Amino acid sequence: MLEGLHAACPTLAVDTDPAACEAASLDALRPLRGRPDFGPVAGRALAVIVPAHVGELSAAVRWAAAAGLPVVARGGGSGLMGAAAVLRPALVADLRCLNTIAVDAESCLVRAGAGATLARVEEALAAHGLMLGHDPWTIGVATVGGVIGTNGLGYLGARAGSVVAQVRALEAVLADGRVLRTRASPARSVGLDPARLLIGTEGTLGIVTEATLVVLPRPEERIVRGYRMPSFTAGVTVAARCRRAGVRASCLELSADELPPAPAFLLLVFDGLLGEAALHAGRAADLVRVAGGEATSANEAEERWSGRHAIAERWAASRDARAGDWLAGGQFDYAHVGVPLAALEGVRAAAHALIRHHGLRLIEEGLWHWPELYSVALSGPADAAAAVRDTIDGILRAAQDAGGTMEYCHGVGWKLAHLMEREHGAVGLDVLRRVRAALDPAGVLNPGKGGL
Ligand SMILES: Cc1cc2nc3c(=O)[nH]c(=O)nc-3n(C[C@H](O)[C@H](O)[C@H](O)COP(=O)(O)OP(=O)(O)OC[C@H]3O[C@@H](n4cnc5c(N)ncnc54)[C@H](O)[C@@H]3O)c2cc1C
Repeated sequence: MLEGLHAACPTLAVDTDPAACEAASLDALRPLRGRPDFGPVAGRALAVIVPAHVGELSAAVRWAAAAGLPVVARGGGSGLMGAAAVLRPALVADLRCLNTIAVDAESCLVRAGAGATLARVEEALAAHGLMLGHDPWTIGVATVGGVIGTNGLGYLGARAGSVVAQVRALEAVLADGRVLRTRASPARSVGLDPARLLIGTEGTLGIVTEATLVVLPRPEERIVRGYRMPSFTAGVTVAARCRRAGVRASCLELSADELPPAPAFLLLVFDGLLGEAALHAGRAADLVRVAGGEATSANEAEERWSGRHAIAERWAASRDARAGDWLAGGQFDYAHVGVPLAALEGVRAAAHALIRHHGLRLIEEGLWHWPELYSVALSGPADAAAAVRDTIDGILRAAQDAGGTMEYCHGVGWKLAHLMEREHGAVGLDVLRRVRAALDPAGVLNPGKGGL
């Protein structure tokens, strides 16, 4: 079957080695995340294609569409929702060779190939006194295309926002092989922006080949502060008061590793011009004091900050060494929900009640940047898959019922597809499916993902 692909695009690199196909058929989702039903549906790619330029990808997608073969875009394969997993015989488009990086320092823009890792983009920007802004745990492996596909959020999200806020323009291959190119401008008033359709839609509407991203000046001063808070609720109060008072942090991370009543840790990072960061840090310290918090040593705060990528580095090392499941031995899962502030305590109470009811262990509950972005990580024994799924889905539903959203940065993929109608409503999901059907009537691009 693949001979036709060779004829359609003779220069395209095509890898059919079973081990390479196997490795390219999964992302970071595993059945032990409360989803044993993921095991039987996860399949294997027929081939991994590695396009060297947009023309090769375009020819390959056109051929695949005619042959009725799906194409799954793949970046670093670090997605958590099975969005890059292969569910039926398909080509995996590995974009690692589309990795050129061109910095326009004067315009604070970088044009990067979809397969460039964030770490490489960051390195190129540092030479110009700039920084990317999107700084997820997985900075070393996640790619420009993958973070656009998931609309990720990183450690500097309080300053940089989600990835969507940084995308100026895109180049992408559509399901029929045509190449879409959008224009870069700081503002636009020219109708719906086609680039927006591709952000957060997990390679189902187009495969990004290149992106122009807005980047940030490296701060003249960075101040990192850690605080012990008497409770998680006290930390939430600080997050809300900082925002209300106009205190600007680049990173706010609140975490507690036991159910209440338990103390919490608040990490605050301030970036700015000389004097500016100190001003904001000082005002935040006043608000922390009023809420009963106490500063930790500078070392403890610095260690938390500098160790922020460590878990993902461990995950990537164990994956690359094919060392099996890095967290093997039990069930483990997490929820990252957006909740209206007034409903946060109710959603937390629902989460705690579910965890207690099922006898699971809370690993961490947290807030990221805004008092509305709430997360829970939990674990249970190997036979607790049903309890873990019931608890996580219960938390996602509680957030939706409170007027919030079931996921704020990791996408939908395969894992959350069953909750998409609840998330968007029947009308909303119908709109999304019609958009998909208009662009890709045969379902060539990443079928079975995002509830589409
Ligand atoms: C330990 C760990 C920590 C993590 N921490 C964070 C975090 O802090 N913040 C965060 O946001 N996420 C985090 N993630 C999730 C993951 O790193 C992000 O979702 C990341 O954006 C995925 O990038 P990737 O290149 O690995 O994409 P992949 O996993 O390869 O793909 C993700 C999705 O995007 C699609 N895609 C890939 N390339 C393209 C393209 N060129 N065009 C269109 N679609 C494409 C894929 O088909 C898939 O649907 C973490 C994951 C792990 C394992």
